Parts: sequence; C-alpha cells; structure tokens
Amino acid sequence: MPSIFSRIVAGEIPAIKVYEDAETLAFLDINPANAGHTLVISKAEYADLFEIPTEALLAVHTTVQKVAHAIRTLLTPDGLNIVQNNGPAAGQTVFHYHVHIIPRWQGDGVLPLWQPGSADPQALQALGIQMRTALDQPV
Ligand code: 5GP
Repeated sequence: MPSIFSRIVAGEIPAIKVYEDAETLAFLDINPANAGHTLVISKAEYADLFEIPTEALLAVHTTVQKVAHAIRTLLTPDGLNIVQNNGPAAGQTVFHYHVHIIPRWQGDGVLPLWQPGSADPQALQALGIQMRTALDQPV
C-alpha cells in the first residue's frame, strides 16, 4: 500500500506544494511546528535512511538546501533545524523518507533539543574504535 506521501505525489491527496523536480517534492507540513515547516521527500518511496539509495538521498538534500535558502530569504528566521526521523523510537510516523525543514525564532520553544549527557572517556574511546571498525566493513 502506498504511503500517504506517495499519494500526495500521485495527486490523490492535496498538499501545499512549494517545489518539485523529477526526483523530489517539497510541501508544507500539515501540522507545522512553526511557520514555514516544510517536508522534502523523495518521489520514489523508500522507508527511511537505510533504504534510500545514495542518488535519491543526494537529490532530496539538494532540494532541502534550495528550500532552506528560500525560507531564509522569505521568513528571515533566526535559525533553522533539519530533522530526519528513522524508526518509531525516533519519532518517525510516515515511513517514506522525508526531511523536515523547521524555521526557528529565538525563544520559540517549539523543538526541545536533547539533554546533554555524560560519558566515561575510556568508554568513548572504545566506542570510537568499534565504530571505526564497523565503518571499515562494506555496507
Ligand atoms: P515524521 O514524524 O514521520 O518524521 O513526520 C511526519 C510528518 O508528516 C509530520 O510532521 C506530519 O505532520 C506530516 N504529515 C502527515 N500526514 C500529512 C499529510 O497528509 N499532509 C502533509 N502536508 N503533512 C503530513
């Protein structure tokens, strides 16, 4: 069954589209965190970061940058978050790769960021070694 975003691409569900090219579509989020909250999707349906091919990923993020420039010019936010959720534990609700562009204004409080934690320096070193080893393996 196609995702709700594929149905937007197909024109079966309305959306306020702001940019479109052969591979990507940008439209306003229906429940925006702030004015200008925009979603950029790959027109082809891939569930998440682990499924999307590199070419499509590059196309999406090229559009993200283009839309971010337009938002900055039009809305002059103080900052801008790029958010991309993978998996329910990370808050993903639509399983079709998408990137949130969320303009931010000082003190708006719309997007609490993480609480800085602490880590044992030796544990960080060990994890770094494990990760470098993992990254040496083919994907
Ligand atoms: P996620 O939580 O998966 O990262 O984000 C999904 C986003 O899609 C949410 O911010 C939600 O508001 C938005 N969304 C879900 N359904 C629709 C829809 O039908 N139209 C639009 N424009 N946005 C949607």
